[in-house]
Amino acid sequence: MNDKLFQFLNEPRQPPRTVPVAIRVLGYGEIGGDFNTASVSTQAERCIDCGNPYCEHVCPVHNYIPNWLKLVQQGRIMEAATLMHETNPLPEICGRVCPQDRLCEGACTLEQTEFGAVTIGSVERWVTDEALRQGWRPDLSAVRETGKRVAIVGAGPAGLACADRLRRVGIAADVYDGQHEIGGLLTFGIPPFKLDKAVVRTRREVLEGMGVRFLLGREVGRDVEFGQLVDDYDAVFVGTGAYTYVDGQLPGRELRGVHDALPFLIANTERLLRDEPPAHAFDLKGKNVIVLGGGDTGMDCNRTAIRLGAASVTCVYRRDEASMPGSAREVSYSREEGVEFLFHRQPLEILGNEHGGVRSVRVIETALVDGGDGRPRPRNVAGTECEIEADVVIQSFGFLPSPPDWLTTHGVKLAPSGRVITGADGALPLQTSHPRIFAGGDNVRGADLVVRAVYDGREAAGSIAQLLSCPSEVTARDVEQHPWAAVAAL
Ligand SMILES: Cc1cc2nc3c(=O)[nH]c(=O)nc-3n(C[C@H](O)[C@H](O)[C@H](O)COP(=O)(O)OP(=O)(O)OC[C@H]3O[C@@H](n4cnc5c(N)ncnc54)[C@H](O)[C@@H]3O)c2cc1C
Ligand code: SF4
Repeated sequence: MNDKLFQFLNEPRQPPRTVPVAIRVLGYGEIGGDFNTASVSTQAERCIDCGNPYCEHVCPVHNYIPNWLKLVQQGRIMEAATLMHETNPLPEICGRVCPQDRLCEGACTLEQTEFGAVTIGSVERWVTDEALRQGWRPDLSAVRETGKRVAIVGAGPAGLACADRLRRVGIAADVYDGQHEIGGLLTFGIPPFKLDKAVVRTRREVLEGMGVRFLLGREVGRDVEFGQLVDDYDAVFVGTGAYTYVDGQLPGRELRGVHDALPFLIANTERLLRDEPPAHAFDLKGKNVIVLGGGDTGMDCNRTAIRLGAASVTCVYRRDEASMPGSAREVSYSREEGVEFLFHRQPLEILGNEHGGVRSVRVIETALVDGGDGRPRPRNVAGTECEIEADVVIQSFGFLPSPPDWLTTHGVKLAPSGRVITGADGALPLQTSHPRIFAGGDNVRGADLVVRAVYDGREAAGSIAQLLSCPSEVTARDVEQHPWAAVAAL
């Protein structure tokens, strides 16, 4: 009998310990602890090599998960890091922020048993961190420069993934961003307790080492003409994200003390980067805070409000817990840190006090009915209205794409929702209706996930290489033919 095959019987699923709640809420440090060489290997050995790796199919970038788990078991950390980068240009970031319970780990064969999934995300994170710490860098020694040049608008995960892949096939990548740091929402949206900003800075060093040029503090359409980029470069990739807030149209939303989620989170991240105390409007010490919305952004607002010293944080959601759109892990962290959840409540109105501030939120109870699309729809229950007292309300109803005018003036077609249309009518994947303009990430999908933006950037780079007749990098589409597939036989 192969003992390793049944390692999961002896070794329980054991993700790295999280920092105790009483300590973690005092600051903004990442809450996940670390593996060490022995514990990461033990956890990797729990993989049963089930032969049909659902984890790999469900992972949006189709990581070669069982293959790199084998390398980790053998202590071959640098090779594992190389293999991780074959499919994922940002593995240390996805290992931290992916909702693994809905993706790779949710699909792990062991997750369907009493033994629990392999800790795939934590292994990916630890291996990449450790390899980078030991000096791992992508080996581009065989790459020949093609003389082709691509402009990338947006240094979020979509733009960064595109830049990484272009450099691997010898195409110059110039990345323009209106912000003064790279990362997009990785830097300014996702709070540091989920993703330490030093991780993004290390990735910037890696990309610059590959020859990626960042032109920061340059907003296209304001500081740089988009037409100039189209004229000067062989192709352009647009990864500008989705920044239009969904407006719940709640009466009272203009009151002092009502904030939209993203400005609230951005203001907090920026002041932390500058090492400053919170501005008066965002100082929540002793305040009763209500967060409206049950997605991942809502969970980030909950946990940030706790760290800002709120006396109470109540998260109001109109469906039940099972219908929440975000990661169950983030809901459980919120709860551990002291957030109260109020399910089955639809907000109707924000009520003010005599000083122009917030007094309460009027809500009504809901019952769930069949929505016809597999997702239950909330219906208000007459006669159940009540008021919940609050000093501050944070609205987190989601985001829509915010396509800039200059896209349409260059013939790029948009869907009525504002999403950029790509890949239509025989176009290459991620190619827009302008043959030399490509797009990906939230501006194509609507607000989504980091790992899907990474996928789009990677695939767009493959399409650009094809358009420019350059050699194209191996992608997950080639997984069967890829030499690394043989690692499974080790
Ligand atoms: C608060 C919050 C928390 C989240 N948490 C998670 C999570 O835990 N896990 C997860 O997987 N996903 C999470 N997401 C979603 C994830 O961050 C996004 O799906 C992802 O960042 C989208 O990547 P992107 O590259 O398309 O866009 P973005 O990350 O938005 O980057 C777009 C970039 O384009 C730049 N830009 C825009 N217009 C211009 C212009 N005209 N000129 C130059 N630059 C421009 C912007 O400055 C920005 O840097 C979260 C989102 C939010 C808002
Ligand atoms: S990229 Fe995300 S979904 Fe894929 S293996 Fe890593 S953590 Fe899982």
